[in-house]
Order: sequence, then C-alpha cells, then structure tokens
Amino acid sequence: MAFGATCDRCGCDLLVADVRFHVNLELAQAYDPMEVAPKEQRRQMRGELEAAIRTLESLPASEVQKLADESYSSFRFDLCGHCAALLRDEARAFFRSKNAAPHDPPPAGDAAN
Ligand SMILES: [Zn+2]
Repeated sequence: MAFGATCDRCGCDLLVADVRFHVNLELAQAYDPMEVAPKEQRRQMRGELEAAIRTLESLPASEVQKLADESYSSFRFDLCGHCAALLRDEARAFFRSKNAAPHDPPPAGDAAN
C-alpha cells in the first residue's frame, strides 16, 4: 500500500476513512539561551568549539550518529480517527502524569548537559 494509506497504529485503511491524521513528533535537546559574552570569553568559546569539532571528527561514524540521534529525533505517523483520539488521551496522561517521579541520574559518561 502507498505511504500514508494505512494507520501506523492499527493498520486500518485510511483511504476509505472519513478522517485521518498526521502526527509529527520532534524531540530536540534543549540548550541554554546563548549569552552575549565579552570578547575574551568568545575567544575561549571558539577554542572549545574547535576542540569539540576535532573530537567529533575523531569519533567513528557510528558514535557520531548515536550522538546525533540522542540530540534530535523526528517521527511522522499517519493515524485513523480512533487511534488519534487514543493518542490525545495517552499524550495528556503522559505529560500530566501525577505518578511520574524524577528518575535516577544517567550513568557516568552519558550525562545530558
Ligand atoms: Zn488506527
């Protein structure tokens, strides 16, 4: 079947459905807002950036891809009306969960900024 012709959750035929939905999910690592730094700090930051680029260039491609995947992911799904309604409810529950508790810190070397 053509791309987007079936629901990515239940597999029903979307071409005969009265309504269908697209879900675009983007997960991007957040950074602190850029501060205006005095000239000396900007020079120091440039050195740190150049060192970071050299480090990235020395890593195997698979490691660079892993870092990229951890920093940014995007997904696109097609859903039928029934599955879209379920997603709305589940998304609300996920983001407003009263049962969610802070998790343990990530293992050493896997720290987020
Ligand atoms: Zn569905």
